[in-house]
Amino acid sequence: MIVRVNENAPGSLCELLIQTATDLGIESRSVQFGDGSVVLGFEGQFDTPVLERTEVDLVLANHRSYMFATREHRTNSIVAVGTVTFGSGTPVLIAGPCVVESREQLLEAALAVKQAGATMLRGGAFKPRTSPYSFQGLGERGLQLLADIREQTGMPVVTEVLEPEQVEVVASHADMLQIGSRNMANTPLLKKAGRTGKPVLLKRGFSATVEEWLLSAEYVIAEGNPNVVLCERGIRGFDPAFRFNLDLNAVPLAKSLTHLPVIVDPSHGTGIRELVAPMAAAATAAGADGLIIESQPHPESAKCDAFQMISPEELAGISQQMHAIAVITNAKESCASQQLDIAELVA
Ligand code: PEP
Ligand code: MN
Repeated sequence: MIVRVNENAPGSLCELLIQTATDLGIESRSVQFGDGSVVLGFEGQFDTPVLERTEVDLVLANHRSYMFATREHRTNSIVAVGTVTFGSGTPVLIAGPCVVESREQLLEAALAVKQAGATMLRGGAFKPRTSPYSFQGLGERGLQLLADIREQTGMPVVTEVLEPEQVEVVASHADMLQIGSRNMANTPLLKKAGRTGKPVLLKRGFSATVEEWLLSAEYVIAEGNPNVVLCERGIRGFDPAFRFNLDLNAVPLAKSLTHLPVIVDPSHGTGIRELVAPMAAAATAAGADGLIIESQPHPESAKCDAFQMISPEELAGISQQMHAIAVITNAKESCASQQLDIAELVA
């Protein structure tokens, strides 16, 4: 059972509900959302006059299994990372190298992607490489470089955390913790990341269903951390022509099931530099709240994922296109709600 209480509810009201559930042997959890409302999730149902109080504005006996991630108790939630906001209607562009290689490489890339329109910097310090003989990243030194470059450029940084033992050190340097495709179902990692309270970028496992992905988000939120942004990054297909198949079906589907922002990674989702721009455009048209793209000057000399790396010049074109498409999709939505004709508006 889901119970939502508004921001005016005293803490004692939640305590009362939790105590009632406990007395009945029903487990409960509570999460405070950015708008001040609190959602209580009960692993069972019960009735009490407390549920009639005016501060209780929603009681759902039947709902999806991901109680906190479900769209059944709120529409679009906004996740803030420093000055950047996901889910506010303006798509976010995150860009940077696949892997942090050196101070010079990261600074040059950060300045170039910022100039191209990115507002957040990506870069791996701990890398999940397919081969144990490939460059594994600079580790803590990479984290320090990311933190330094954030100071120089003002851009918040997102970087991957690979194991629960790294969560603390990554959280102390990064503005957002990335949980990668290969770790989407690593529940100890999800829980530990959740407990930091830091925003989490949760990539979809490349063989995970949308429901499994949302349940992974639930692990983070159930720790009291509603600041989760989902990222579709491609699933395994049968055709070796592509590294992965960017599953854009998942974007409108996920957005219809959850209130969390959903962004798209057309770099890993295609694995082919030439496909990044068209799929970035398609992702925005499908309703994505942002894009994460691998880009740095001299893309061909990147130590990791050079074949899908794009130049900052190309990124600038993607940024413009992203904002132009978002204007049209937002206009379409507001036309639908006001019953206006989009053709008249764009004419
Ligand atoms: C990445 O973004 O650096 C990465 C490794 O992505 P994924 O987990 O989607 O493969
Ligand atoms: Mn990469």
